[in-house]
Amino acid sequence: MLKLFNTLTKKRSLFSPREQHSVKMYTCGPSVYNFVHIGNFRTFYWEDVLKRTLLTLGYRVIHAMPISDIEDKSVKAFFSQTEFSDITKFLKPRINAFLNDWQRLNLLKPDFLISFSESVTLVEKWIIHALENKYAYTDARGNVILDISKTGYGALYKINTKNRGIRIQDDYAKNGYYSFAIWKAKKRKDIYFNPEKLVPGRPASHIYCAVIANEYLGSPIDIHCGGTDNIYPHHENEIALANTRYSRIFANYWFHVAHLTVNKRKMSKRLGNIVYLRDIIEKGFTPEELKYFYLKTHYRKTQNFDYQLLEKAGRELKEIRSLAKEYVGKDDLFSVDEIYRSNIARIVFDDLKIHTALKKTLKNLHELTRSRSNKQSIAILKDLKLLERITGIEFLPKT
Ligand SMILES: [Zn+2]
Repeated sequence: MLKLFNTLTKKRSLFSPREQHSVKMYTCGPSVYNFVHIGNFRTFYWEDVLKRTLLTLGYRVIHAMPISDIEDKSVKAFFSQTEFSDITKFLKPRINAFLNDWQRLNLLKPDFLISFSESVTLVEKWIIHALENKYAYTDARGNVILDISKTGYGALYKINTKNRGIRIQDDYAKNGYYSFAIWKAKKRKDIYFNPEKLVPGRPASHIYCAVIANEYLGSPIDIHCGGTDNIYPHHENEIALANTRYSRIFANYWFHVAHLTVNKRKMSKRLGNIVYLRDIIEKGFTPEELKYFYLKTHYRKTQNFDYQLLEKAGRELKEIRSLAKEYVGKDDLFSVDEIYRSNIARIVFDDLKIHTALKKTLKNLHELTRSRSNKQSIAILKDLKLLERITGIEFLPKT
């Protein structure tokens, strides 16, 4: 019943998990080197909408998400500050703020919420396997490099094969065909682990995700999600890593959410335009208004944020609520079978075109105010209940 755009096939197609009734879903987690902003939460929210949609369709969803605690960015951020002498203490307020915002936005809890640092033993097992099976080799410093000519590369993204080489850093902007580090030997200022069979060091962030997804959910998984900036190199690298363990496909569907800009510019520390959930709440907006704002642009399109747009979204949400209010209590019990027949359901289940569904629902509500048709009011209330289940936003007062 659900059509989704799949980055792997570049097509919109009918979603069908391997098992009939359950879906294994992996979502890349927050980088907690800094406080998580509303741009990051756009992706987390749309992943929540996807999860709620699958639940509404009757699937059991098994969801794993990591907390990206010890990785390049957090290590760098930790050493560039002097307030905390312990990285755990440095990261704790950032992780807590993230979890707090997650709760305030009322996002569904993953079944497995695993931090990178608690998966190091599992990661070591994968690295040893890759070394033993010649997918990877150790360089003179003790870094372990995954040789992508042996794993296959470029399933999701158009790789520029002219740029070739080896990359040790996790983050690199230049598109190319790079073998990459999966274990980084300890540097002078570093946070490191001491596994039995490797030199002191730490895993790269790409391997953590591949390991957590496969080990906690089991291979293959049905749907892998993240922001569009994760596609290359992070998700390409995850696929290469999964290929070292399994001959089958890593994830059948790849779901990617586009960026959020602020006043048409990319959010960045340098521009000083980062917006956090707490900023929005301080200005008197509610988390639900932010969620409604997110829904106004399809997840695959870049969305622009400014406070006027947020205000407009908030007004529209209030309008839906106040128009719908007087019909509440006049409908029959909600049945999932019936939602399939509604026009709104068809729109929503077509690659989550919720912005269109909301527009139509609002129009229907205005029409209803004129017609006062009982039959129509029941249909609209059902649509709103469906939208509530999928978006996690309350449109109707609870009776
Ligand atoms: Zn990831």
